[in-house]
Amino acid sequence: MRVSRLYHSEGLTLNQTVILTPEKSHYLVNVLRHTVGDELVLFHQSTLEFLGKIISIEGKKKPIVSVALYAQTEIKTESDLRLTLIQGLAKNDKMDWIIQKAVELGIAEIYPVISEFSEVRLNAERMASKQIHWQNIAISAAEQSGRTYVPLVHMPQKIIDCLPKINKADKIFCLHPHLPAVNLNDKLNTLDTPKNVAMLVGPEGGFSPKEIVHFEQLNYTFVTLGPRILRTETAAIVMQSLLQHRFGDIH
Ligand code: SAM
Repeated sequence: MRVSRLYHSEGLTLNQTVILTPEKSHYLVNVLRHTVGDELVLFHQSTLEFLGKIISIEGKKKPIVSVALYAQTEIKTESDLRLTLIQGLAKNDKMDWIIQKAVELGIAEIYPVISEFSEVRLNAERMASKQIHWQNIAISAAEQSGRTYVPLVHMPQKIIDCLPKINKADKIFCLHPHLPAVNLNDKLNTLDTPKNVAMLVGPEGGFSPKEIVHFEQLNYTFVTLGPRILRTETAAIVMQSLLQHRFGDIH
């Protein structure tokens, strides 16, 4: 049986016995059919992953799994390029897809944002449940892709409220298919290797003229990804791939 890899919600140390949450325990026992003696890998927001063995499963209907951690390994699956995605809310399940792929491509943080032309309308309750849903997608993608950090998916918020939170980035790109944007390659050729990059991707309707003027005033760098208009989910993934290839760990 393949060794399962799971994110644990608290810090981990070698030789510790970890009691897994009811949700993780249910998944391991009732879905993956793990039993006492099986090996597992656990990780929690560090460069380490821990190898452990299931030492007990308490309860039949609602099992609780205990795991004894007996080895630790330092692994490098995090990119030296810290990438933040500011993504205009996209319709249907496109956000699920964007978040899953962004985590696989090494994103550090994701801000789902509401902008002037956003077609998605969510009340406070729906926003909170969406955030939990997206955070869980990020956890699954980190487990599956071998990452040891789970990127934070923030609560959906107005783009204007999100912008002050990204100003520590060395470079902020606004993806825009029209002027004043210029070819991405031309911009990248003028850059020293950045360590911390943020990128803004518009929703299906794109950014409004007012937003573009605002981003210009903030000195964001406008770039195009070629002559064709891409769907928002394509643009987000293409930009991350190109930046990780140029400055990060996709070679
Ligand atoms: N009608 C919109 C417009 O003309 O701006 C199209 C928006 S597009 C479907 C959604 C988002 O994807 C855009 O706001 C932009 O961030 C990004 N995008 C799509 N194609 C792009 C391209 N060729 N270059 C840069 N960004 C692009």
